Amino acid sequence: MVLPQPRAGLMDIPLYEGGKSSLKGHDRVIKLSSNESALGPSPAAFKAYGETASGLVRYPDGNATDLKAAISEVHGLDPAQLICGAGSDEILCLACRAYAGPGGEVIHTAHGFLMYGIYARSVGATPVVVPETDLAADVDAILAAVTDATKLVFVANPNNPTGTVLSSADLARLRDALREDIVLVVDGAYAEFMDGSDYDGGRALAENTPNTLMTRTFSKIYGLASLRVGWAFGPRSMIETLERLRSPFNVNGAAIAVAAAAMRDVAHTDAARGHNNRWMGVAVQRLRALGLGVTGESGNFVLPEFPDTPGKSAADTDAFLQSKGVIVRRVDNYGLPNHLRITLGTDEEMESVLNALTQFMGGSDG
Ligand SMILES: *Cc1c(COP(=O)(O)O)cnc(C)c1O
Repeated sequence: MVLPQPRAGLMDIPLYEGGKSSLKGHDRVIKLSSNESALGPSPAAFKAYGETASGLVRYPDGNATDLKAAISEVHGLDPAQLICGAGSDEILCLACRAYAGPGGEVIHTAHGFLMYGIYARSVGATPVVVPETDLAADVDAILAAVTDATKLVFVANPNNPTGTVLSSADLARLRDALREDIVLVVDGAYAEFMDGSDYDGGRALAENTPNTLMTRTFSKIYGLASLRVGWAFGPRSMIETLERLRSPFNVNGAAIAVAAAAMRDVAHTDAARGHNNRWMGVAVQRLRALGLGVTGESGNFVLPEFPDTPGKSAADTDAFLQSKGVIVRRVDNYGLPNHLRITLGTDEEMESVLNALTQFMGGSDG
């Protein structure tokens, strides 16, 4: 008897493991493992969520019209150049389905978001992993990895879990040097945390080139990870392609209404950015004062490097933090066994985790 067989290569896909959210023996934990928002959603988002209850019987608006309108209002983008998804994850997958496939190659960098390789494999394409320089994407290394089979390049800016950023000039140089038939996806999951003028979330490239897509999410600064909403902006031809592949009601009704309300509450987003960037400065300074290396300083997380010595390693530190009820993210599966990724949380959470680290690393309990 021959049982159903999955397509070749599917069983090579590693299962994605999200950040832990509970600890044995701790009723209350400090969860800093999944880059969720410290301040949580806008009050307007909560209000909109309550109001969606009466509409549960109806199918949602398959075009997510109001959400596209909200994005368009805030960012000044043409709604016809927007697509919404069940998380930006769905859109990353749609891009692979549309432009890659068996025989195709999908490039991402060594410590790029794990889902890039997973989605590439899911469509039968081959992920091509390119080395980074000092934990940052290296344009020359990416270009050197391009072959005739290259279909798509993923770059997260800033990157998760490294927190490193590609400059606007480097991003433009990358696009310029890539063949025109290769899709560039600039994943801006953390774009809203950036406030520097040199930051480039890929918007200009998505606006002015026929082959670049910029993706964004409501899971990070907007504090709506559970709702699963993301969006992308790109040339009409690419958006129209992706629209054909998605399921008809991929973004649910609550997600459309709540994300639209969150997008329109610009003051809340500004407050979340301000809170984050204040703690970024403090966390980086205090981690460095403990002798820990910190490379990237962007996004809503830090990635300290721990000494590879027994008793003080990343694994030992993680175990100590867990004993204190603090969950951070091990990043071994990103090829970073000596690092821990710590999401920037509330004031109380940040004091707790930084004090615990100070205590463990042998300083005073500051
Ligand atoms: C969190 C994250 C995403 C996707 O988040 P969704 O919840 O699917 O929108 C995409 N890219 C990176 C780099 C991320 O960290």
